[in-house]
Amino acid sequence: METYSLLKVIGEGSFGRALLVRCKSSNAKYVVKEIQLPKNRTKLENSRREAILLSRMKHPNIVAFREAFEAEDLLCIVMEYCSGGDLLQRIRHQNTTQFCVDEILKWFAQMCAGAKHIHDKQVLHRDLKSKNIFLTDNGEVKLGDFGSACILNSSKAYAQTYVGTPYYVAPEIWENKPYNNKSDVWSLGCVLYELCTLRHPFQAPSWKSLILKVCRGAYPPLPNHLLYELQYLVKQMFKTNPKDRPSLHTILTSHRVSRLLHSHL
Ligand code: ADP
Ligand code: MG
Repeated sequence: METYSLLKVIGEGSFGRALLVRCKSSNAKYVVKEIQLPKNRTKLENSRREAILLSRMKHPNIVAFREAFEAEDLLCIVMEYCSGGDLLQRIRHQNTTQFCVDEILKWFAQMCAGAKHIHDKQVLHRDLKSKNIFLTDNGEVKLGDFGSACILNSSKAYAQTYVGTPYYVAPEIWENKPYNNKSDVWSLGCVLYELCTLRHPFQAPSWKSLILKVCRGAYPPLPNHLLYELQYLVKQMFKTNPKDRPSLHTILTSHRVSRLLHSHL
């Protein structure tokens, strides 16, 4: 850590802390995610996976990895700083003022491009949500937090024990089926819906009723003034059978909204 000086703590979670730092030689700002390393060997591998998987990604819509190092019982992942904070903060900041369609389409197209890159590398993110999507100072979005990511078809994809916020979890996960690329598509559908309405598509007073709504794919309709293409897209992304959901490749290429998205990339 002698390369960097601490500016402030920007996030605190179960893993440890996210720190804003300045590189002493270049003066550039970075984020250091500190992860407490467990003593247990298997858990140790899990913690290291986040750094390994993030380091494999290289895309304008994914938080750029700089380096990772271990110091005593801490794993430090140094990455690009997204000064606009996370998308959840941005949504809350709107209060009741809706985002304009161009902004929604731009962000959504960028998220899909980032997520497609992850899938092309045979990796699943598994925790796509507005809190894990970051904004740069010029309003671009980047996917971050690879703490739940895993390699496609690995035994890890099957042994999903769910912790965290349940709003973005696809029906197949509640039905104990393996996590797949379409489960990430469902979660991005939830983020798209949130951008369109400033609300979660699936909300309920109890876990049981939330899971029921998710498994039925029952969500309040989007307001009529929104583009027909957005309504259609949300509907496709919330197909309860993952096989019926479009892949990111489909959304970005053969889908009828692809032209619209590409004009915003
Ligand atoms: P956790 O595993 O606790 O969810 P995250 O990687 O999501 O860890 O980081 C926690 C919070 O720290 C994020 O929600 C965000 O507000 C902030 N944060 C993390 N990484 C960055 C980054 N690269 N740029 C800006 N803020 C970040
Ligand atoms: Mg997070």
